Amino acid sequence: MKKNVLLDSHLKTLKLPTFLREYEKTGRQCARDGKHYEEFLLCLAEMEVAERENKGAARRIRQAGFPAEKELADFDFSAVPKLNKRRVLELARCEYIERRESIVLAGPAGVGKTHLAIALGREACRRGKKVKFFTACGLATAYAEAREERHVQRLDAHARTRHLILVDELGYVPLGQGAAENLFNFFSLCYERVSLIVTTNLPFSEWPQIFGDERLAGALIDRLTHHVHVVEIQGESYRLRASLKAGKAKDAPNAAPEQEGGDAQDESASQ
Ligand code: ADP
Ligand code: MG
Repeated sequence: MKKNVLLDSHLKTLKLPTFLREYEKTGRQCARDGKHYEEFLLCLAEMEVAERENKGAARRIRQAGFPAEKELADFDFSAVPKLNKRRVLELARCEYIERRESIVLAGPAGVGKTHLAIALGREACRRGKKVKFFTACGLATAYAEAREERHVQRLDAHARTRHLILVDELGYVPLGQGAAENLFNFFSLCYERVSLIVTTNLPFSEWPQIFGDERLAGALIDRLTHHVHVVEIQGESYRLRASLKAGKAKDAPNAAPEQEGGDAQDESASQ
């Protein structure tokens, strides 16, 4: 199949860039393989759809503003044996978002809460969901600034049009009165409308300390826990363990790499 100026023009008008780029090569290939016209068309249509989906996912991931590239595939579940891998993979299918449910990832520092939150967020982006990442402090600041500039409605509207919002590190820093109220209003806005993934180092019983207000924290927990999957991650800091292991490896220069892998499994099994 040769280039056809008129066809090129129509494909541009129809915004089918993959058809435009591929039809010559695919046409030749199909002719060589003796494929029918429908197969030729199907092949092009599949490529166009795949490219559109990839671009959409990449755009949504960009717009989500994740602070790092973390994937489920890079998460070492053997390091946290008490974490139910099946449950996490089930959550990655994003059905909780369809049901407007939320996730709380709770556990001490370094166990992979942010990693898992980002990985679930990126998965949601790939499945066509609009996602936004905030740290709890960043979110409180965004609201404080918006309030000063009278843009709160714009921020609310943006939040309302997301399918999933990540609020990372709730509890690391106690919130002032204004910040606590802003976050409370935000959680109220999202209630039964936008799914949330909240990561926290504190159990719910200590949330009043973050918010500095028993009633506010109580009302918030009430809303958040209504439709929530609480995923507790127990264990030691992954970073700390990794650096300890690196230290150990240096101390034992004859250790074979396979043995290190074996070590990791033994350690996690004995936890
Ligand atoms: P948290 O948010 O719980 O404090 P992070 O998710 O920031 O912990 O994890 C700290 C670092 O360790 C990150 O670079 C993360 O990718 C890595 N990490 C933590 N747990 C795991 C794990 N089970 N498998 C692979 N990497 C991990
Ligand atoms: Mg974190």
